[in-house]
Amino acid sequence: MMEAAAAYYTATGKRRLLDIMTRMAHHIDTVIGPEEGKLHGYPGHEEIELALVSMYHATGDPVMLKLASYFINERGREPRFFDIEAEAREGESARRYRDPGDYAQWHKPVREQDSLEGHSVRALYLATGMADVARETGDETLLDACRRLYENLVHRRMYITGGVGSSHYGERFTFDYDLPNDTVYAETCASIALCFFMRAMLSTEPDGRYADTMETALYNTCIAGMSLDGHNFFYVNPLEVWPEASRKSPERRHVLPVRPKWFGCACCPPNLARLIMSIGKYEYVTDGDTIYQNLYIAGEAKLKTEHAEVTLRTETKYPLDGDILVTASAGEYALALRVPGFCRGKFTLTVNGEAVNANVEYGYAVIRREWRDGDRVRLTIDVSPRRVYTHYKVREDAGKVAVARGPVVYCLEEADNETPLSGVSLPSSSELFCRFVPDKLGGIVEISADGTVLVDDGDDSLYRDTPPKRKPVKLTFIPYYTWANRGAGEMTVYVRES
Ligand SMILES: [Zn+2]
Repeated sequence: MMEAAAAYYTATGKRRLLDIMTRMAHHIDTVIGPEEGKLHGYPGHEEIELALVSMYHATGDPVMLKLASYFINERGREPRFFDIEAEAREGESARRYRDPGDYAQWHKPVREQDSLEGHSVRALYLATGMADVARETGDETLLDACRRLYENLVHRRMYITGGVGSSHYGERFTFDYDLPNDTVYAETCASIALCFFMRAMLSTEPDGRYADTMETALYNTCIAGMSLDGHNFFYVNPLEVWPEASRKSPERRHVLPVRPKWFGCACCPPNLARLIMSIGKYEYVTDGDTIYQNLYIAGEAKLKTEHAEVTLRTETKYPLDGDILVTASAGEYALALRVPGFCRGKFTLTVNGEAVNANVEYGYAVIRREWRDGDRVRLTIDVSPRRVYTHYKVREDAGKVAVARGPVVYCLEEADNETPLSGVSLPSSSELFCRFVPDKLGGIVEISADGTVLVDDGDDSLYRDTPPKRKPVKLTFIPYYTWANRGAGEMTVYVRES
């Protein structure tokens, strides 16, 4: 409700809900806080922290920031609030939060946490609040904790699709390199929360790596959370689906092969709606006289730097291709265009048709100059298809490969390929061919390659002395976000590489 109040005020200038929620925050401040006689507590499902910072931006009221800081600083401190609560009232709801406390991230003070633990949405909402408070208060120790959480996440615990939270049980993180493709959770909300966290980090210390992670989550798991017609939604975002197993195996019943219309706990659909409706917040951040463009989406943006009011127009079909044209308005400011990590430095940059040797600083090509109205900056990023391999400790993906193009991860679907997809193999020598198909799945770049698949060779024994036969097939990869729009069927992101 606080986030809604701040968003509604920002969009309309109307204060009614903002004033109500300001009184609510002041009331909470009379009940919870460090002072004697108040509860020394914090929420079981974090989110109020980041919402209070939004309220702080909307109102300038220092109580908002004080309360957000308190919730973050108190979390996990001895004596621990939920231990006291659980003793005071032994019951189901109290037990749920009890030891070791990592389910709701109160197992240690937040500055001592090195990895995202427990319920993935809670963990990432907390991390977002931590980054927000670190920025607003200049707290380096808190920012350091955010950096550690980020490093652990991207190097050990995030799916190639930007999905997070690998276990259905507790909708949670488990341990490093545990990334099962078929029993996965990867809630849509968790990847949205990852976008929140990355945006909070980008607003604190612009670094293209945060934008890379945000883009991965956005273009893969987040938008896969919704069908192409916008009517159906995924809560769980698997990287491998076998519809019969989803129907009959208790450990995969949560992995649905088609998007349902709605959920009993319908957090993901509206979360996705607000993410997409506020996408401009993620596309740009400003710092001093620099405008950082993190995402490339066609449209026009009005932005304020320290000294200038700037209008930027972006024309692009990215990520269908890697060609981005930005038209600037007059003024003296720096334009920092993100050079995505996936292009491995393969990009060109021109201003009004002339090649520019821009410095790449923290993942951004920075052009600082006195701009004239209508100056045209063209950034061309290499989005040729590539094979992506996974760290050898991820057991599920050993000997396998995934295919990606630009920020978009691809998958094989039964509608285009012979099954079982588990029997498909992509030779390491096979070339990846791209083709734009305007009338398929809303307009996609399809990738095809020569491969093989295991076939029925007439031997029905479960165990045998010779390997089953293979035959050559043409493999067709589609963007992951477009899967499950053609009925129930097998799907896989990873394929064996031979
Ligand atoms: Zn959700």
